Amino acid sequence: MASESAPHMTSEEFRRHGHAVVDWVADYLDRVADLPVLAQVKPGEIRARLPAGPPEIGEPFEAVLRDLDDVVVPGLTHWQSPDFFAYFPANVSGPSILGELVSAGLGVQGMLWSTSPAMTEIETHVLDWVVDLLGLPAGFSSAGAGGGVLQDSASSAVLCALLAARERATGGAATHAGVDRALTVYTSSQAHSSVEKAVRIAGLGSDRLRLVDVDAAFALRPDDLARRMADDRAAGATPCLVVATVGTTSSTAIDPVRAAGEICRREGAWLHVDAAYAGSAAVCPELRWIHDGLELADSYAFNPHKWLLTNFDCCCFYVTDRAALVRALSILPEYLRNTATESGSVIDYRDWQVPLGRRFRALKLWFVIRHYGAEGLRRHIRSHVAAARELAAAVAADPGFELAAPALLGLVCLRHRGGDDVNQAVLDRVNASGRLHLTHTRLDGKLTLRVAVGGARTERHHVLRAWEQIRDTARTLAGGG
Ligand SMILES: *Cc1c(COP(=O)(O)O)cnc(C)c1O
Repeated sequence: MASESAPHMTSEEFRRHGHAVVDWVADYLDRVADLPVLAQVKPGEIRARLPAGPPEIGEPFEAVLRDLDDVVVPGLTHWQSPDFFAYFPANVSGPSILGELVSAGLGVQGMLWSTSPAMTEIETHVLDWVVDLLGLPAGFSSAGAGGGVLQDSASSAVLCALLAARERATGGAATHAGVDRALTVYTSSQAHSSVEKAVRIAGLGSDRLRLVDVDAAFALRPDDLARRMADDRAAGATPCLVVATVGTTSSTAIDPVRAAGEICRREGAWLHVDAAYAGSAAVCPELRWIHDGLELADSYAFNPHKWLLTNFDCCCFYVTDRAALVRALSILPEYLRNTATESGSVIDYRDWQVPLGRRFRALKLWFVIRHYGAEGLRRHIRSHVAAARELAAAVAADPGFELAAPALLGLVCLRHRGGDDVNQAVLDRVNASGRLHLTHTRLDGKLTLRVAVGGARTERHHVLRAWEQIRDTARTLAGGG
């Protein structure tokens, strides 16, 4: 007679397969430098290798593991390759991977303090550590009226900032009665697309978003911001939110946060600062100038999953007035009522985010900070900033090339002087080579190659080798080769 219960993996089997999986991941990270960085498959090629339907009878785990090598790895772009310079990096590290594993093993839900007190308290505490680690304004610490929360992404953070800003701007009328008051939102023309997405999701609509002009360094122009806000107010609108970017996605431009903050104070608008990539740099005191004026911000977000050795997803989101955020997002149904919540003495993080359920994300960040220490994290950032500066100097010294934007942190924006066609051909050739992966942007209307130095395993020699390949490819192409 067949057993009634599900065929669970026994703890002995879990141990054995678990050790094999850890070995597999360690081996993968050891050999990732030798794999072609950019996936070289055609659409549908990976699906074609999979059976049409799910198995009726469970398979041995060895067969599952084998398919990682046979099916999965050939279809990957290797984000952990030291020769990955595309987009922004997505750092992982040993302690972070192990934190993810433990989080999966515990399987706790931290929607309320009472559903797993340690999860909430460790998260609050680690986010207060990060205030110290980055030298952030004290207003973001949970000791006062503010505090931090882990979101999945900077996109979620800007949406939550908008909802809190709207709540404050309308005294709750937008949250509860759908009152609109013609709210307007401001960000620079270089800001991340997540700002417009948030404006859409919140129901304001894209035409309530004002794209403010930028200066020659691609940073927001405060005079244009002030002018647009005044015009909108004169037309009967209510300026609600300004999103300043510290480290834009295209070129790591740094918006003048202080000037934007002063304007927001005058106008009564909420200032959110999006430092998704660049924020991690502030572990180094000499780079904290990027946050000048941050004490004027109402909220702030950065992604340790980009440059601080922590697995995706991990976005630190801070507010100075947690009450506004909670007022915008808290709904307490009967089935979640509990004495800890009613006492008012605990944080229920479900009220700080869009979903109800939440996983134990703080573990990986806690493991990372404890493993590396502040000193280890500073070394990580400094080695990349130094390599990026060396690359920028080499580009500036090469008569065939130009820097397309100041190289302030780990990103170098460069282009060959031969024009868009040459640069497109360089991009296509180096990506097809499998030896490195770059992406592009457009600055001043010109196609620009982005070299984002920041992979967990990327060292100076990888950066110099990438430059040689870019330079030699361009010389060949520009020379008609
Ligand atoms: C990467 C990036 C984002 C989006 O990050 P997610 O966490 O993937 O939503 C937002 N803003 C900036 C400036 C970025 O570089």
